[in-house]
Amino acid sequence: MKISKIIIGIEVHVELKTASKMFCGCSADHFGKPPNTQTCPVCLGLPGALPVPNKKAVDWTIILGLALSGEIQKYTMFERKNYFYPDLPKGYQISQYRYPLIKGGFLSLENGKKIKIKRVHLEEDTGKLVHQKINGKYVTLVDFNRSGVPLVEIVSEPDINSSEEAKEYLEKIRQLVRYLDISDGDMEKGSMRCEPNINLEITDNDKTYYTPIVELKNINSFRFVKKAIDYETERLFNEFQKNRVEKAKGNKQTRGWDDVKQITIPQREKEEENDYRYFPEPDIPPIEWSEGDIQNFCKNFERIELPWQKLERFQREFQLSFYQAKILTEERSLANFFENCAKIAIRRSQDPLKLANIIINKKFPPNLTPEQLVDWYIKEQTIPTLSEEEIDKLIVKYLNTYPEAKEGYRKGKPQALGIIIGQIKKETGVVVSLEKIASFIDKN
Ligand code: ZN
Ligand code: MN
Repeated sequence: MKISKIIIGIEVHVELKTASKMFCGCSADHFGKPPNTQTCPVCLGLPGALPVPNKKAVDWTIILGLALSGEIQKYTMFERKNYFYPDLPKGYQISQYRYPLIKGGFLSLENGKKIKIKRVHLEEDTGKLVHQKINGKYVTLVDFNRSGVPLVEIVSEPDINSSEEAKEYLEKIRQLVRYLDISDGDMEKGSMRCEPNINLEITDNDKTYYTPIVELKNINSFRFVKKAIDYETERLFNEFQKNRVEKAKGNKQTRGWDDVKQITIPQREKEEENDYRYFPEPDIPPIEWSEGDIQNFCKNFERIELPWQKLERFQREFQLSFYQAKILTEERSLANFFENCAKIAIRRSQDPLKLANIIINKKFPPNLTPEQLVDWYIKEQTIPTLSEEEIDKLIVKYLNTYPEAKEGYRKGKPQALGIIIGQIKKETGVVVSLEKIASFIDKN
């Protein structure tokens, strides 16, 4: 008997960092604030209070959906998801069910595998239960500051087949929401939370079996994603060997990760969708986008450079290796810092690759601006500098050696001049900018 396939789908919840909450004007910046100081009748669920959707949260969810190659749904609406829990004062969560903002899409892993996305929808976060000991008694307190904070839910298809893939998928989601500047994506703070669904395909004597599906909760750090899934894989396999329980309807279980004991423990039986009695939120009319609205969303989206696009551009534009580009595009702020340095370096006839290595190896004095870093680098390196005349001479020399470069440039392919830059760099260690060569050709 062996595990022939691990089947994982992941629900990710991401808190948006909008200024205000999803359906009221309270501040959405709740982390570390004194309990119950950022509430109002709407997010406390008082009778008669009316929710008004946050436009920015809707816009951001759509941008995220587009970044995941999803499709904007022309018709969308909010619905009530009914369940009882002390952190949910209304007795229902305003969420989306039949008509999410986005359907479909995918996220590519490094090896090219595409994890399909089922849907991306918008909802509100719940309050938070705080377990404490007061006067020797164990009590549970409720803090409603988080109640009503905009929450995006990204649901993947069960296309993930290992804990490594799950980790990479989540890291990519986190990178994406940070690039889009719509969330901290911080699992430790709870602004990003994930719930993997996992079951196993087991082969025994040429027969195939499927274990029940388990939903894992309470994973509140990136470090534990892999651990929790690995633990659960082994547990499910042992369980199947012992009891041979197969997947059947209504057989979904919820287990929580205990990061002290490093095990998963059973939680309440998972509700079926029927139990939630979803119905349209009567206080918020459905939204129907016009063609113009959809075009606007797409236009706004086109202006954004996604991390994987930047990764490719850095390799092309600065001749970085995949590895270098990957590190430098990990975070948008670092990518911007490097790009500014690289541009200044090129303008000053320095090699951006050298700057890339310095930044990757963190071998430079702290708190420098890109300008200062390039200054420091030039002083440090005693790189040969060339006079304008010498540079012009070199350009002439190599334009003569490689007439096809000039020809290519004249035909509208400036990248053809790359060979000239490469040759001058090889001979002198100095990097001449493409613009410089181009303007030389234009003038002569
Ligand atoms: Zn409020
Ligand atoms: Mn949800």
